[in-house]
Amino acid sequence: MVAIFFIAGLIIGSFLGVVSWRLKTAEDIVWERSHCPHCKKKIRWYDNIPLLSFIILWGQCRDCKKRISWEYPLIELVTGLLFAAVAWKFLGTLGFMAGPERIFTNGDIVDMSFWLFAVCYLVIIFFHDLDFMLIPDAVVYPAILVTLGYQYYKYMGGPLGIASLKAPITSALFAAFVAALFFFLLIWMSRGKWIGGGDVKLGFLAGAMVGWPKILFVLFFAYMIGAVASLILIGTKKKTWKSQIPFGPFLVAGILIVMFFSEQIQFWANRYLDMRY
Ligand SMILES: [Zn+2]
Repeated sequence: MVAIFFIAGLIIGSFLGVVSWRLKTAEDIVWERSHCPHCKKKIRWYDNIPLLSFIILWGQCRDCKKRISWEYPLIELVTGLLFAAVAWKFLGTLGFMAGPERIFTNGDIVDMSFWLFAVCYLVIIFFHDLDFMLIPDAVVYPAILVTLGYQYYKYMGGPLGIASLKAPITSALFAAFVAALFFFLLIWMSRGKWIGGGDVKLGFLAGAMVGWPKILFVLFFAYMIGAVASLILIGTKKKTWKSQIPFGPFLVAGILIVMFFSEQIQFWANRYLDMRY
């Protein structure tokens, strides 16, 4: 089952790579056939198999022999692995693997669908910001809407009133506004030098996804990874102290860590920080 999700992730990842590219070049996302950016020749269907084609063609276009960006197979692989991780998280403890102690409910289907959806838009945001230093509104706004819809659904199915900060929709909105305000203040203080307006929107999305107080852990991991990655880039002379490094990818990494390791982080936070959430 996990393997099926991995392969589905590879195929969807292939599509996400194209979406990220076409958001920049403003091409039709769905109906236009894939073509080589150098010689514009259409890519044959048998050269369009995720991961395998890249290996068989040795990273070159069949027609013009120009190199194909290594990002395409990387996006496919990352999406495949994340899909497998989602499948493992939701199905790994289920009956057909570990004994029939848990039943897959409608709520689980909604949760799992939301996670798969979240993985998709986070992958697009990660690679688009990495390539173009831009977080596309066309991805982040629909993502915020879907996420708030999901949190509202969770709230409707839960016992908590809207005034409780633990109620999903309240927690999501509170965390979203805290993160957006935090990034807004950073922009204001640095006059836009440290981060950009896209990070405010992505911060809002991050808060809406993980809620309060988990957004604090997202920010913590984002800054930790960001600091380490920046030092490596500067150390290897790929960047200087003055270069701009997009912050979106670190934020996405922080969100994914908090999503997948929520239980472990919660355990650790309860134990050492005396935080109960
Ligand atoms: Zn070509």
